[in-house]
Amino acid sequence: MNIVVCVKQIPDPAAPQSFDASNNLDRSGKLILDEADTYGVEMALQLVDKAGGGEVTVVSMGAANDVAGLRNALAMGAAKAVIVSDESLRGTDALGTAKVLASVIRRDPPDLVLCATESSDGYTGTLPVQLAELLAMPSITFAKAVTVEGSSVKVDRQTESGYDEVTAPLPCVVSVTAGVVEPRYASFKGIMAAKSKPLETLSVADLGLAGEVGAGGARQTIVDVVAAESRQAGEKYVDEGDGAQKIVAFLESIKVL
Ligand SMILES: Cc1cc2nc3c(=O)[nH]c(=O)nc-3n(C[C@H](O)[C@H](O)[C@H](O)COP(=O)(O)OP(=O)(O)OC[C@H]3O[C@@H](n4cnc5c(N)ncnc54)[C@H](O)[C@@H]3O)c2cc1C
Repeated sequence: MNIVVCVKQIPDPAAPQSFDASNNLDRSGKLILDEADTYGVEMALQLVDKAGGGEVTVVSMGAANDVAGLRNALAMGAAKAVIVSDESLRGTDALGTAKVLASVIRRDPPDLVLCATESSDGYTGTLPVQLAELLAMPSITFAKAVTVEGSSVKVDRQTESGYDEVTAPLPCVVSVTAGVVEPRYASFKGIMAAKSKPLETLSVADLGLAGEVGAGGARQTIVDVVAAESRQAGEKYVDEGDGAQKIVAFLESIKVL
């Protein structure tokens, strides 16, 4: 069973973040494996283990000035990594990113593609379904449990009130939620082994996508980036025998009642 996990390297959320003139996140510094993607890597490793054969490949698009995040996935147990990195990718939007990742995945079609539900720096949550569409594969989102049975995948799909049991034929794209499994820590042996595992860097020309991706082909632009509003202090009601009425009046004013 061969599984591709799409993983994103993101600027360390603990470090101060900055944006360039086009409102794109500065990714020139330290990059780490998005924590959201560690769940997909772990899930894939467990599924391959259960299947008794096959391998996990991690695929990424982004700056390759720091590949520590990909080495981390390799140290966890993935067999190889592919990163598409190219100056001409600057300004590529989510659909362009999906096109790039789909081109890599098509070179050696896997049995299953895993993504996280949303990345920790972009949060659009759109890429997994775009990828499925481009690969002409079924897509199941919000997986909180994944099992492979023969030639199909069975997913417990998180809903607001519980979960749905959904099955789809393989190959399929599944996006997993945090908590689907507990990601392992890389062992010292894993970290040493990761240093010699294959990590391929591809350009846009290698994929035959020149002119299709990059700022020119993007349909999304970031018009502004603003700091999230800090929470205002709440209003305090002192109960002088009329506390319940005050609460009801407040709930009516915000149209909850
Ligand atoms: C206006 C704009 C400009 C951009 N400019 C650049 C740029 O200059 N350079 C650049 O590299 N990217 C650029 N991007 C791409 C961006 O960083 C995201 O990768 C892409 O938009 C996907 O959006 P998201 O992170 O919200 O994905 P989501 O849909 O929230 O991600 C869900 C999951 O999809 C997978 N995934 C998402 N992105 C990637 C990725 N890049 N590689 C592998 N797996 C992934 C992961 O599994 C992730 O957890 C740009 C995007 C926009 C909208």
